[in-house]
Amino acid sequence: MFLKRIAKRIAAPFRSRGVILLYHRVASIAPDRWSLCVSREHFEQHMSVLRKFRPLRLEDIAARPLPRSVAVTFDDGYADNLTHAKPVIEKYGIPATFFLATGYIGGSREFWWDELEQLIFQPESVAETLDVSIGRRFDQHTVSGSRLEIHDQIYDYLQPLAQDERRETLERLSDQIGHKPQFRQSHRQLSPGEISELSKCEFAEIGAHTVTHPRLSTQSLRDQKTEIECSKIFLEELAGAPVATFSYPYGGSNHYSLHTCEIVRQAGYRFACTTNPQAVTRLSKPYELPRLNIGDMDGDRFERLLESYCYS
Ligand SMILES: [Zn+2]
Repeated sequence: MFLKRIAKRIAAPFRSRGVILLYHRVASIAPDRWSLCVSREHFEQHMSVLRKFRPLRLEDIAARPLPRSVAVTFDDGYADNLTHAKPVIEKYGIPATFFLATGYIGGSREFWWDELEQLIFQPESVAETLDVSIGRRFDQHTVSGSRLEIHDQIYDYLQPLAQDERRETLERLSDQIGHKPQFRQSHRQLSPGEISELSKCEFAEIGAHTVTHPRLSTQSLRDQKTEIECSKIFLEELAGAPVATFSYPYGGSNHYSLHTCEIVRQAGYRFACTTNPQAVTRLSKPYELPRLNIGDMDGDRFERLLESYCYS
């Protein structure tokens, strides 16, 4: 009994569990292939539920994950982060970190996955079989099936490419399908002015999410360094404050490597987030913090989900 009590006391700090939440958009948009959108109504319910937990800044939860602690993060940098998310986090006093892919800021192109979604889902009809040529080497692939299946197969070919190759491939695909993606206000990113506005909010912090949103594990170490360092410098200038946190694009264990983590550390970041859906504990690695992707669910379901991860 005595030994059991001692063991329990030793293990206590490691049982302390928090959770880092991952959002992308506060909006209601269809199609939404990757479930990036949470409606405004549901997002407000989520933030209200967080009052029953312990909302912390990302850096604080990473340094010391107290029982029932929760940190909110957003990836990518959609404009609705400012217009729809910021007022709600301010209303409930919930800190949030916004990870931004800087190469899209102030541009006139949507994120590549949104352009692909337009190409496949907007035309009245798309052939059931397409021969597509991928990348600079024009690798030939045949994709077939429903629109969703075609979309997903092309997505898998595009994701590992560097930005230029991806754009060239999308342009060829656009010619082939006979449909041109438009720049939609509903899918635009934050502008430089909006980022400085967001950074002035006392509950908002800015983090980096690379420049071009590549799958880092498929890029050379030199290119990874450029992506990781340049996004930090750009955002620090815009926000007028140090940027200490980073999130890996796509965030799965095959989307970055241990070399990537080291580059992130050497660039001066203190913490980096993955999309590994686990609770955060004292044993979590600072450059591989787990995060839970949050879909468009109501407040009750959200609360049950948090309880299941966050028990202390
Ligand atoms: Zn992302």
